[in-house]
Amino acid sequence: MMLAAHGVGVTLGGARILDGVDLAVEAGEMVALVGPNGAGKSTLLAALAGDLVPDDGVVTLDGRPLAAQAARDLARRRAVLLQHQSLAFGFHVIDVVRMGRSPWRRTDREDDDDLVVERSLERADVTELAHRLFPTLSGGEQARSSFARVLAQETPVLLLDEPTASLDIRHQEALLTIARDAARAGVAVVVVLHDLSLAAAYADRVCVLAHGRVRADGPPTEVLTGPLLTEVYDHPVQVIDHEGSLVVVPVRKEAPCVPA
Ligand code: ADP
Ligand code: MG
Repeated sequence: MMLAAHGVGVTLGGARILDGVDLAVEAGEMVALVGPNGAGKSTLLAALAGDLVPDDGVVTLDGRPLAAQAARDLARRRAVLLQHQSLAFGFHVIDVVRMGRSPWRRTDREDDDDLVVERSLERADVTELAHRLFPTLSGGEQARSSFARVLAQETPVLLLDEPTASLDIRHQEALLTIARDAARAGVAVVVVLHDLSLAAAYADRVCVLAHGRVRADGPPTEVLTGPLLTEVYDHPVQVIDHEGSLVVVPVRKEAPCVPA
């Protein structure tokens, strides 16, 4: 299994949003997609999902263009956690998670629905929220409920757009551990992250997007360097090796206050 963008270009509202993007993700691999605001990360994820057809180039899954695949087939092969979730008015959390099972309706796998939904609620730590109305949840609770939905979809490709943005530390670590375990079990994972230390800790590869182009793509230790990040983020950034983990920190002009 392989998901690949070949020379992907996207123009929106007259602006070139993505240009000549090549990115391949294999089964069993977790790729972090990073880059400044507006770099084109969400647009690239939409193209990888087949939700947006590129103006140039092509996205293929197992060598077949996504555009040629029926919506139902696509839904069985890739699950997408969007950055901005629609609010799902009137739906309880358990209904939202059940929606993840809809691609498997009228297949043998439908028999697993209840078990998979229950397990997905547990994995995302939202079992106790199952009967709450989705719009009444906090941002982080909504994000975890939506993550439970994509887990319930049981697809070989997971596309996650800033899934940790509104999560506390414990749930950030838990979510990325689940995503990495899914990769270890053979899933191809692409995850958009702003926290570069998290990207360093969990991703097999980091793809840095800047101005709609791939600026770097490789293992965290090769890609996450002070000079490259300083350039891409237009802010001085330092990368520290803390007991074998890379920690990425902005350099601040003023020294911190020291108590007298
Ligand atoms: P990221 O997720 O990296 O922050 P996006 O992929 O959401 O960036 O957006 C990339 C750029 O494309 C941004 O500058 C955004 O304003 C612009 N953009 C996104 N959608 C449209 C659109 N429909 N029309 C015009 N510009 C858009
Ligand atoms: Mg985005």
